[in-house]
Amino acid sequence: MTSACPNCDTAEQRPDYARYQAGCVGCAVRELANGPLFYRGGLDGGDAKPYRVALAGLFGDGWRDGHKLVLAQADRIRESRAIL
Ligand SMILES: [Zn+2]
Repeated sequence: MTSACPNCDTAEQRPDYARYQAGCVGCAVRELANGPLFYRGGLDGGDAKPYRVALAGLFGDGWRDGHKLVLAQADRIRESRAIL
């Protein structure tokens, strides 16, 4: 993904960098990947609906593609924490 803001540039090097810029889709994706809605939605029996609503708000009908972006960021974040 091409980065759109300084925070996303930093996150390229530091996947769990937790600063976000309003209006930046890349930041919104990272915030979701780092956030409780995504985490809860992934648990067995967790309520995925708030996460879906957040995705739809960002990506509209393209929410499935947005979900793939969030998954990719979540993987990067998890891997970076495993190394540390
Ligand atoms: Zn950004």
